[in-house]
Amino acid sequence: MRRIIFIDVDDVLANFTRAFLARVNATNGTSFTYKDHQNWDFSCVLPPGQTWRQHISDEEFWATLPLHPWADELMQAIWETGWEYAYLSAIPLGTAFMGRKKWLDEHFQDGTNVAPHKRLIIAERKDFVVGGADILIEDSPQHIEACRLTGASVLAISHPWNQGIDGLLTPQQVIDEIRAL
Ligand SMILES: [Mg+2]
Repeated sequence: MRRIIFIDVDDVLANFTRAFLARVNATNGTSFTYKDHQNWDFSCVLPPGQTWRQHISDEEFWATLPLHPWADELMQAIWETGWEYAYLSAIPLGTAFMGRKKWLDEHFQDGTNVAPHKRLIIAERKDFVVGGADILIEDSPQHIEACRLTGASVLAISHPWNQGIDGLLTPQQVIDEIRAL
């Protein structure tokens, strides 16, 4: 049976929200922090008429995202399972994609001769990719709910923007679940 661990990148490995809010605050003169990001569409931190994409359309943003403090331990746990794995991300193509490739190759060399970006899958519909006996590590309410309907096991990392979703886990609980495979 096919068994793959799929890993969302933004706010699972990369601290997208910290970098994004730094851009928004610098542009708009605001002082939003992590806990203010309560809605998945960023409507709590953006004035009407602004879109999240207009703040982060450059490759540099995506290539220099900070890591979450648990990212290295999580990836180490995944490598130690021996399962196949892939990074599953819904970023726009173009400059974001180029930046993400660089970022993965800088941070997550797994000791094989396969470059990390070779495991990068871009999909707006993650439920078309994940299913069956697969595992997905994810924070987006939309992707968590859609992928659970496929039968896949979704490990949902708790953040302010996904409260209300069933079965939310701390990053350490996700790592423990992976280690128990
Ligand atoms: Mg995410």
